[in-house]
Amino acid sequence: MLKTIIGCEEWLSLEDIKIPAIKARVDSGAKTSAIQASNIKRVTRNGEAWVTFDVNPIQDNLSLNVSCESKVIDTRIIRSSSGESQKRYVIKTKLKLGSDEFEIELNLADRDGMEYRMLLGREAIINRYLVDASKSFVLSDNLDGEIIKKYNYLIKQSSGLKLGLLASNKDLYSNKRLIEAAEARGHKIEFLNIQHCYMKLDAQKPEVRFRGGKILDDLDAVIPRIRPSMTFYGCALLRQFDSIGTYCLNSSFSISQSRDKLFSSQLFSINGINIPITGFAKSPLETKDLIDMVGGSPLIVKLLESAQGKGVVSAETNKAAESVINAFKSLQANILVQEFIKEAEGKDIRCFIVDGKVVASIIRQANKGEFRSNIHQGGKARKVKINSEEKKLAIKAAKIFKLDVAGVDIIRSNKGPLLLEVNSSPGLEGIESITGKDIANEIILAIEKKLKFSS
Ligand code: ADP
Repeated sequence: MLKTIIGCEEWLSLEDIKIPAIKARVDSGAKTSAIQASNIKRVTRNGEAWVTFDVNPIQDNLSLNVSCESKVIDTRIIRSSSGESQKRYVIKTKLKLGSDEFEIELNLADRDGMEYRMLLGREAIINRYLVDASKSFVLSDNLDGEIIKKYNYLIKQSSGLKLGLLASNKDLYSNKRLIEAAEARGHKIEFLNIQHCYMKLDAQKPEVRFRGGKILDDLDAVIPRIRPSMTFYGCALLRQFDSIGTYCLNSSFSISQSRDKLFSSQLFSINGINIPITGFAKSPLETKDLIDMVGGSPLIVKLLESAQGKGVVSAETNKAAESVINAFKSLQANILVQEFIKEAEGKDIRCFIVDGKVVASIIRQANKGEFRSNIHQGGKARKVKINSEEKKLAIKAAKIFKLDVAGVDIIRSNKGPLLLEVNSSPGLEGIESITGKDIANEIILAIEKKLKFSS
């Protein structure tokens, strides 16, 4: 039989499980085809084994969810690349690719880091197709860009709620996700570039205006995603929104307070929250005592303006600590000196808090030879179950700043969990992809709750 040429990626549909379009990677290296699924539950129907599961057919859009169900035809134990064994259900479904229609067996993969939502394996292609790895979409149209139309039926019709996303870059993962999540719930959401907003300060009728003179007076809520370099102006805009009665998810006050590392540390100690022993001084004359005060070397010196671990250094000896501290001081930099938590072994925990609840948590492990676990410093992260003490600490830390949304960083020490930092614009990319949780949706639900909105 003459085989048809197929590209290395193709759009196809799976009618039996109501998926009108999904992009599959054609991979003859894998035996069985697989689809990324979540909430996989085995159920019994008329004495038969069935499975219910959710599929997010659009890459990275966790807010678009197709609920599927199918009969289980097999259960297999699969060993993942990290060596963990996983039970996988196998289903059968009709597949449509171009004008071809046939049945395939499909493994339900529970978020194992597959690059595509679906993988078309050897069994499905071997007798039909020849793969031309240099080509894409040979048998199908490329639906990138218009895929959302196929799923319009899943998107709620207009809810009447109008939101603004106050940020700097529309293409950032977190911002894209918040827009998708709001739209999936039927809300209108406008991207407001901080730099394109301006204000009228007037006792009678204060205003916020957007590029071109548009008056922003009809927004129900604003979601701030203010990068550190925009704190001053971004927070001023938020205050203005607040003054015209627009609800701000994370107030200007909460954001500016949480961005001041020294002030935050003072707030933590006033509120009985444990942090690594920390010292701060203005004059270089006190350097030696400052070092003694935090227990001597090894210790950590942090620039107050640090982000992504960039301004955090460790000093192995008292001599090195003295030199680093004095060097920073001669540059007029504001620094914190902090006890080094050796037993953390380069790990820290990020808890994502929405509306007073920990909605997800991950543990980050620093690269070899590095103590900073920031992803930007090469750290790796995985899901983690935190204990009740850690949970309490994370929730309390967000509450102190009255932050509705916060990323709380905790380090595990011999004295119990210690608070490192509270972030008012925590990123969604790492934590959503690692935990598979739709955190953007949680954020939108929190706004609905604050506004007492019900759909
Ligand atoms: P940034 O705000 O720049 O991310 P952090 O204070 O969060 O700075 O520190 C960066 C990383 O360095 C943390 O994620 C943690 O892994 C590590 N770290 C910070 N403080 C300590 C400490 N006192 N002891 C051990 N490791 C630390």
